[in-house]
Amino acid sequence: MNVLFLAAEANPFVKIGGLADVAGSLPNALLSLNSQEDRKEEINILVVIPFYNCINIDLENFTKVVDFHVIKNGDPVPVQAYKYVEGNVPVYFIKAEPITKDDNVYSSDGNRNREKFTLFSLAALELTRILNWKVDIIHANDWHTSLALYYAKTNQIHDWFEQTAKLLTIHNLPYLGGDGEEIFDAYGISELIDRNLPDWARRQFLPMGIWAADKIVAVSKSYAREILTPEYGCGLHEYLNLRRTDINGIVNGLDTNIWDPASDPYLHQKFSISNLNKRKNNKKLLTQEFNLSTDPNIPLIGLVTRIDFQKGIDLSIKTLQNLKDLPWQMILLGTGDPYIESELMQLQEENPDKVRILLKFDIELSHKIYGSADIFLMPSRYEPCGLAQMIAMHYGCVPVVHATGGLKDTVTEEGTGFLFSGTTPEDQAIALKKALHFYSNQERWQTIQANGMQQDFSWKNSARKYADLYDSLKIDHSSGGEK
Ligand code: ADP
Repeated sequence: MNVLFLAAEANPFVKIGGLADVAGSLPNALLSLNSQEDRKEEINILVVIPFYNCINIDLENFTKVVDFHVIKNGDPVPVQAYKYVEGNVPVYFIKAEPITKDDNVYSSDGNRNREKFTLFSLAALELTRILNWKVDIIHANDWHTSLALYYAKTNQIHDWFEQTAKLLTIHNLPYLGGDGEEIFDAYGISELIDRNLPDWARRQFLPMGIWAADKIVAVSKSYAREILTPEYGCGLHEYLNLRRTDINGIVNGLDTNIWDPASDPYLHQKFSISNLNKRKNNKKLLTQEFNLSTDPNIPLIGLVTRIDFQKGIDLSIKTLQNLKDLPWQMILLGTGDPYIESELMQLQEENPDKVRILLKFDIELSHKIYGSADIFLMPSRYEPCGLAQMIAMHYGCVPVVHATGGLKDTVTEEGTGFLFSGTTPEDQAIALKKALHFYSNQERWQTIQANGMQQDFSWKNSARKYADLYDSLKIDHSSGGEK
């Protein structure tokens, strides 16, 4: 079974958020199912991602595969495909001027992004034809690669994708991609006329992908339900309700080769459940490094996050200000919205003995925070799945989270963490105060840490669910073509 897996980010090549973790680990997890006895049909996967300028892995590790082109306004746009030669999963990279025009993965200019990902989606499809790699399933992720599903379904030029099933994973519904009408005209992408979709949505990338997909995955069971409601459905809830039998909730897994406190090279002191005490040395070093108190009785709150309205960090600023007389310290690592960043810097200025704000993307420091902090705060307004809270639990860092989406599905109250239901700073304060109170009883605290560390957050179960979906899609398509 040949699966074309398309994403805008993939570890270890390029990472902005959790999408990279997923695209870097799910394909591997799927391949490892091949060795299981009950697996009838072997899964082959070809991952394709854009070759951004910021991918700074030595070019020697890539082989140039082919030069080809995609047509824009009747003229050829030159495209080069490269292959990364190491690792189990073949990863191909698409290079072309719309991708290399600016240095960022996601440009601040929406039109540039739209053109970049349109070109990428069409080129990735074309690459399979050139390689003569017959695709059974296209698995696209989020708006960036949605157009590949749409184009494969609607393009009448050739029948290469006639038997190909289409699967879309929605990691973040509100990112719809924006209106692509002009770009679609330039790249010869036909109009979507299904009136079940609202007019505005018929020109936006993610809705077009949803429409074209045979099956849709939302990245947790709760999020799969939430997107059917007006509150979370981004104007698409009525259409999504029409498609509800095609929607599945499959929670993301962690790459436990990368995320393993017992072998993590970034941790000063590696640890596991049986020697949790060692973990305290990490906290001591980290607090020392950032010139905070090393008193073990003061709980350290950690955050590793994109600083975005979604993540609710602005709400935490108010919560922490209100709780400033309680014993806690905080290290936040993140980048994003300049306004929230400046508010965070102000919180640091006002609480120089408690707060450290690191406005950068830093993998090593992220590992150290997970392996040192006592509490992991994740106040997301909405959270389709969330990996950070799972990483935290896996590292014995107890999450305090908003009870929404994947957070609700993966954290249990007083079992593995603490949850709050509303989105006011007061709601957060109640849960945080409860966590601080529990922390003062170390025996009880360690039980919660151990509970979290014992959860199975690996891809094992979820990869199987994806494989089952692939199997069912392939049967549908080989027996009757399109629905
Ligand atoms: P999202 O995908 O919405 O950003 P997730 O919780 O699913 O949220 O995944 C976030 C991933 O990105 C985690 O692996 C987290 O550790 C990582 N991450 C976020 N911000 C940073 C940062 N500033 N430095 C290093 N890693 C980060």
